[in-house]
Amino acid sequence: MHYKCCNVYVKIYLTKDETAFAGNCPRCGARTSIKVSKTGTASRFWSSD
Ligand SMILES: [Zn+2]
Repeated sequence: MHYKCCNVYVKIYLTKDETAFAGNCPRCGARTSIKVSKTGTASRFWSSD
């Protein structure tokens, strides 16, 4: 996961119900969650808006 807010990369993890990935920016604490698509995801890295 790339946090544009602080230009850092961190790993994010599946939520308990496995419907989304969730993480927090390690520098500013911005929360991010990404829903898991039914077809799966090609990469474990995304960029925050
Ligand atoms: Zn940040």
